[in-house]
Amino acid sequence: NKTLRLILGDQLNRQHSWYARVDDDTTYVMMEVRSETDYATHHIQKVAGFFAAMRAFADELSMLKHNVVYIKLTHEGNKQSFKENISDLIAKKNFTHFEYQLPDEYRMDMLLQDVTSNLSIPFKLYDTEHFFSTRDELGKFFEGKKLYLMENFYRYMRKKHNILMDGDKPVTGQWNYDGENRKKLPAGHKPVAPILLQNNVQDIVDEIGTTNIKTIGTVKVNAFAWPIDRQQSLSLLSFFLKECLPLFGTYQDAMTTGEWSLYHSRISFSLNSKMISPAEVIEAAIQEWSERPTEIQYNQLEGFVRQIIGWREYMRGIYWLKMPEFATLNFFEHTTSLPDWYWTGQTKMNCLKQSIQQSLTHAYAHHIQRLMVTGNFALLAGVHPDEVDVWYLGIYIDALDWVEVTNTRGMSQYADGGIIGTKPYVSSAAYIDKMSNYCSTCYYDKSKKTGNRACPFNSLYWNFYNRHEEKLAKNPRVQIMYTIWNKMKPGQKAELLQQADYYLQNINAL
Ligand code: FAD
Ligand code: SF4
Repeated sequence: NKTLRLILGDQLNRQHSWYARVDDDTTYVMMEVRSETDYATHHIQKVAGFFAAMRAFADELSMLKHNVVYIKLTHEGNKQSFKENISDLIAKKNFTHFEYQLPDEYRMDMLLQDVTSNLSIPFKLYDTEHFFSTRDELGKFFEGKKLYLMENFYRYMRKKHNILMDGDKPVTGQWNYDGENRKKLPAGHKPVAPILLQNNVQDIVDEIGTTNIKTIGTVKVNAFAWPIDRQQSLSLLSFFLKECLPLFGTYQDAMTTGEWSLYHSRISFSLNSKMISPAEVIEAAIQEWSERPTEIQYNQLEGFVRQIIGWREYMRGIYWLKMPEFATLNFFEHTTSLPDWYWTGQTKMNCLKQSIQQSLTHAYAHHIQRLMVTGNFALLAGVHPDEVDVWYLGIYIDALDWVEVTNTRGMSQYADGGIIGTKPYVSSAAYIDKMSNYCSTCYYDKSKKTGNRACPFNSLYWNFYNRHEEKLAKNPRVQIMYTIWNKMKPGQKAELLQQADYYLQNINAL
C-alpha cells in the first residue's frame, strides 16, 4: 500500500494523530496553487503568512522523517489546481490510497468531493481534530428551534466540555460577564505594545511578485510580524496570557488612534491555520488565571473563553448548517458598491481611516473595528454583501470563508435576516465616540446630524432605519428606534434624509 495524504494550508496541526507514527509508505503532499491565491484579492501578508507557515510545517514534518512532497507556487510541474496536482501525483508515483482531512471551507469540501469522485483508488476522510464541536453539532443542538442563540450554544459547550463548571453550574454562578467588560480606554492609558515577530518572507514575496499575484496592503519582508509555526504561535499566546489577559475583557471593545491591537490576542491566524488548538488555548488561559487570581479577574477570562468556545464554534456550526445558501443571502436587498477608499484608507472619516489603514498595514483589525466601524458603515450605506465579503475575505490574515462569511454577512451585515444576530449592528457617531477617541481629531463633527461637516454616520443611521422600516419595525429589539424616528418632526426627518442622500451620492468623496 502506498498512501498519499493531502494537507491543506489551513491544516497545519502538528498534534494531529496522522503524525504520531512515521510510515515509509505514506507521503504527505502540500501545495501552493493559483486557485487559492486568486479566489479573492488577498492581503500580501495573508498570502505570505499562509505560504510561510505551510513551508515551515513541511520542513518540520521532513525533519521528523515523514515523506513530504511540497509543490511551490513556482514549481515547474505545478498545475496550479488541487485536482490536477493530485491526479498527476497519484499517476506518476502509483499511490494506492488517497486520504485527506475534512476541509473547513464549503468551496474546498466540494472541490475535494469532486476530486475523490473521479479517483480510481480508494480514499478516506479524517477529522481535523481541531474543533470542540463537529460540523453538524450546532444543527442538532438547535433542531426545531426558531432562534439560534449563541449564548445557549456557549453554555452547552461549557457544560459538555466541563470548562469553568462546578457540576452543572458555572463556576462563579454567573454565565455572562459582558456587563463588566467593554470599557473605553481612559485618557492617557498606554496599552501594552504588541510583540512583533521578525520572520523573513523575502523569497515568498518575490515569488508572489514574479507570478503576478494581485494583492493588497504592505509587508515588511524582513520583519514579518505574524507567527509562522507552532512554537511562535505558542509564544504569542503566552505573551497574550502574561501581558494582555488581565485587561482583555475590560477593553475588548475599545478603539484608539495609533494602537492597532490593544489587549487582543492576535491568535486568530494561528488558530485558523490550526498551528494551535482551541483546547490548548482555553486550557492555558484557565491555568494562567488560576495562577494569578488577583491580577486576572474572572470576567477577563470568561470574556476570552466565550470568544473561543462560544463565538468561534458557533460560527462554524452556523456555517455548516446554512451553507451554501448563507453566502448568497441579502436580506436588505442592498446593491451599492463598496466605496473606493475601503481599498486605500483615503477618507476624511477618522474612524474608517484608522481602521482601514491599520488593516492595510497589519492585515488585522480587532473585532469592534470590523463590526462597528467598517461593517457598520457598509451596512448603513447599503453596500452589497458580496462586495463586503470580498473585502473582508481579502484583507485579514485570519480570513477563511467559514468564519469570515458568518461574521460579515451574518453578524455584521444582517444579510441573513437574523440567523446570527437578533438585530442589525448599526450605530451613529455616539457609539464610536463612546468607545474610541477617533472623533476628537476627525474632520467631521460627531455631534452634528446635518449641515457642513456633519458626521455621515448620524444621517445614514436614520436613513437606514427609514428605508428598512418594513423589514425591521416588527423586531422588538429595534422598536425604540422607530418610536424615536416617528416622534421626529417631518422637517427634521426630511433634513436627515436629504443629508444622507447627499452623502450616499458622494460616497467616494467622504
Ligand atoms: P481576540 O479578540 O483576542 O479573541 C480571541 C479569539 O476568539 C480570536 O482569535 C478568535 O479565534 C475568536 N473569536 C472572537 N470573536 C470571534 C467571532 N466573532 N467569530 C469567530 N471567532 C471569534 N475572525 C476570523 O477568525 N476570521 C475572519 O475572517 C473574521 N472576519 C470577521 C469579519 C467581521 C465583519 C467581524 C465583525 C468579525 C470577524 N472575525 C473574524 C471575528 C473577530 O473579529 C476575529 O476573530 C478577531 O478580531 C481576531 O483577532 P484576535 O485573535 O486578536 O481576537
Ligand atoms: Fe467616525 Fe463620525 Fe467620529 Fe468622524 S465624527 S470619527 S466619521 S464617527
